[in-house]
Amino acid sequence: MRRRVQEGVQRVHIARPETPLQARLLRLLRDRGPQARGGLAEVADLSRTRLGAELDRLAVAGLLEVRRSDAGRHSATVDLHPDLRFLGVDVGATSVDVGVTDGRLRLLGRRGRELDVREGPAVVLDAVVALWRELRAEGRAVELHGAGIGLPGPVASDEGVPVAPPLMPGWDRYPVRDHLVRALGCTVVVDNDVNVLALGEHHAGAARGVDDVLFVKLGTGVGAAVFLGGRPYRGATGSAGDVGHLGLDDSAEPCPCGARGCVEAVVSGAALARTATAAARSGASPVLARRLAAAGRVTARDVAAAATEADPEAVRLVRESGRRVGRLLATLVSFANPGLVVLCGGMTGLGHTLLAEVRAEVYRRSPPLATGDLPIVLSELGTAAGLVGGARLVSDHLFAA
Ligand SMILES: [Zn+2]
Repeated sequence: MRRRVQEGVQRVHIARPETPLQARLLRLLRDRGPQARGGLAEVADLSRTRLGAELDRLAVAGLLEVRRSDAGRHSATVDLHPDLRFLGVDVGATSVDVGVTDGRLRLLGRRGRELDVREGPAVVLDAVVALWRELRAEGRAVELHGAGIGLPGPVASDEGVPVAPPLMPGWDRYPVRDHLVRALGCTVVVDNDVNVLALGEHHAGAARGVDDVLFVKLGTGVGAAVFLGGRPYRGATGSAGDVGHLGLDDSAEPCPCGARGCVEAVVSGAALARTATAAARSGASPVLARRLAAAGRVTARDVAAAATEADPEAVRLVRESGRRVGRLLATLVSFANPGLVVLCGGMTGLGHTLLAEVRAEVYRRSPPLATGDLPIVLSELGTAAGLVGGARLVSDHLFAA
């Protein structure tokens, strides 16, 4: 990277790899960590001469560094530049989180706050920038090389805009990418939140090293993402996995989108909160009634806590949610035949009672050939998945020639 001084602040001009080979080397260092120079030619399947020339160019560009060793040239270590910084941004329906990573996408620091996405793009994106500034003030990074952001709705990723997002009034076609490019001064990539969570889990979590994976986010909304052959499959226009408003059953539950019986109206955290509130009001669950009286509302988290206290109605609600999620998953598993299913999002706080019901329903409804060897697991990274995934999203973009 070329350094220049501007207004007394050292700013970094971000270089990018110039050839597919350079991009491949950077991805290799990102995913496998530092490599002995002597072994890298073999790992990258290159002649030593060719490798040396590419490493020199990347070092001059400030993207990596070669640390010499006393034992000679070939025992030097090649690593990504220690100043590489990515920002991952996870915008949820009710929260905003940002995290800074190094070049290997290890989280160095994070900040978050509760914020309703319905406040609109100006308020939410200002909060993103303010949280980033807090991290910068802590010394987590001077300059960003790129930022990746996940939004809880359909996104036209090549334009960097959300398109008719049902949970995000005021965001339709808002230029999220251009807004953040101006505010952060770096490359920005925008995607649907489930795709971003999936990238995080695939990079460093439950799906590491698995090629064909189905990810399902169970939060305020519900969505899915698919990895095929080790890569995200986004479909023709980027909306693959957008299952939240499929009709799941004949339920008359109204959905914020205007239809009835949608997946989100039946299996989401919002749907669970609604049935739990009814159980609290009717007296069916004394534990939930106490929580409603204390806080004025009941959330999916309260149901999880009440189930832990062995409240029979709460346990019943968790099981019922699991069966409904399982019914949705059985359809998706039958269609995509994944090698692994990862559940993420706030509802996974319902834990293993939920998971057991989901598994039972999927194994009962999907073809034995599809489920014979199919693990269904919870996210490993939890709330960090969207941050690591955002960093991965933009680094995939930057580390592609
Ligand atoms: Zn709907």
